Amino acid sequence: MTDLVITGGTLVDGTGAPGRPADIGVTAGRVDAVAAPGTLTGRRLDAAGLVVCPGFIDLHSHADFSITGHPGADTAVTQGVTTLVTGNCGFSPFPVGDLDELRSRRRSCRPSSTGPGPTRPATPTRSTPPGPR
Ligand SMILES: [Zn+2]
Repeated sequence: MTDLVITGGTLVDGTGAPGRPADIGVTAGRVDAVAAPGTLTGRRLDAAGLVVCPGFIDLHSHADFSITGHPGADTAVTQGVTTLVTGNCGFSPFPVGDLDELRSRRRSCRPSSTGPGPTRPATPTRSTPPGPR
């Protein structure tokens, strides 16, 4: 018996195989079984009409500046992101000597509540390609 059975969803397992109906067993916070629907026992979580899949990898995040303030990364996790890759733009607070130094750097990256903030147009601009509409 597993702690939790995610049932009724379509499993897309990340291997490239087509999605299929499956029960997913979770024990102690880890997936420990994938089985035909209706074969696992335990507390059930109904995922009918939903896709059940491994977490997504955000290949371009700047979370290295915010992760110390939000170590659970709730905004990423609630979107299905379970892995954040950082340091893509040629800057990163790492390596850092100590966590207080990193927290200090994070604060310095926040827009000022009294200053002008980041420079950007007041409204988004979009170029329209020539041609018929
Ligand atoms: Zn970037």
